[in-house]
Amino acid sequence: MFASLGGKTVIVTGASRGIGKGIALRFAEAGLNVVVVSRRLDEAQAVAALCGPKAIGVAADVATTAGCAAMVAAAVEAFGGIDILCANAGIFPSATLGTMTEADFDTVIDTNLKSLFLSVSACLQELKKSGAGRIVITSSITGPITGYPGWSHYGASKAGQLGFMRTAAIELAPKKITVNAVMPGNIMTEGMEGMGPDYIAAAAASIPQKALGVVADIANAALFFASGEAGYITGQTLVVDGGQVLPESPAAMEAMG
Ligand code: NAP
Repeated sequence: MFASLGGKTVIVTGASRGIGKGIALRFAEAGLNVVVVSRRLDEAQAVAALCGPKAIGVAADVATTAGCAAMVAAAVEAFGGIDILCANAGIFPSATLGTMTEADFDTVIDTNLKSLFLSVSACLQELKKSGAGRIVITSSITGPITGYPGWSHYGASKAGQLGFMRTAAIELAPKKITVNAVMPGNIMTEGMEGMGPDYIAAAAASIPQKALGVVADIANAALFFASGEAGYITGQTLVVDGGQVLPESPAAMEAMG
């Protein structure tokens, strides 16, 4: 699809399963060297094996400076540099206000938002060397556009990613690095399975296309932002949600039958 990507190197965080795994597989298919990152080495290596011979699995906690340094070191050792960072790792535990603890809040912010700062900081030198560096964030519709009970911390982390993105895009533009975000709606992943069948059925019913998305839907959007063809796009978002954010009321959905 994008001729400009072959031979480049991508780090995909949170790639042992779900959307990150989908991104890793799609980028491998497009001819990139892929660094599959998760906290579990066995799982990361299993996905790397599916990606093929030009992929490695790395164990790293991206909520820590040491973890991010380790993933960069592994990428440089294996492939000589980094062209693209897909900052995808994230968690979405549920806790409503009144029950949410300070530790709950900190864990979500550290994993989803601080990890973005740490990952970008760790990759920065290599992305500058690339001459056409790309940062692709997996944000969400939840936070930037919508809300959902139990996810005030999650929504804050995902909206915070976009605030980070807009200033990072300005700061890094002179270095020819773009920073963009995909905003998924409800995508069928292992993490989503954990929400249970009732949540999934209700989510599908609320989407004009009447189905959850699949990981390839997000991976294709990420691949576009990563491509040379998207080089003049920075600080932007792309909602990939089957139209979920569009109905102005339940009546708008009911009118569709
Ligand atoms: P998932 O199936 O639960 O997978 C999450 C991935 O993140 C796993 O590979 C996990 O690997 C990794 N991870 C978690 N904490 C990490 C850490 N501290 N360091 C490194 N890796 C870590 O989740 P998903 O549904 O694919 O979601 C992926 C991203 O998409 C998240 O940022 C999420 O917020 C966003 N998103 C998802 C949806 C959706 O509907 N699924 C919608 C909007 C946005 P290990 O456990 O092996 O570390």
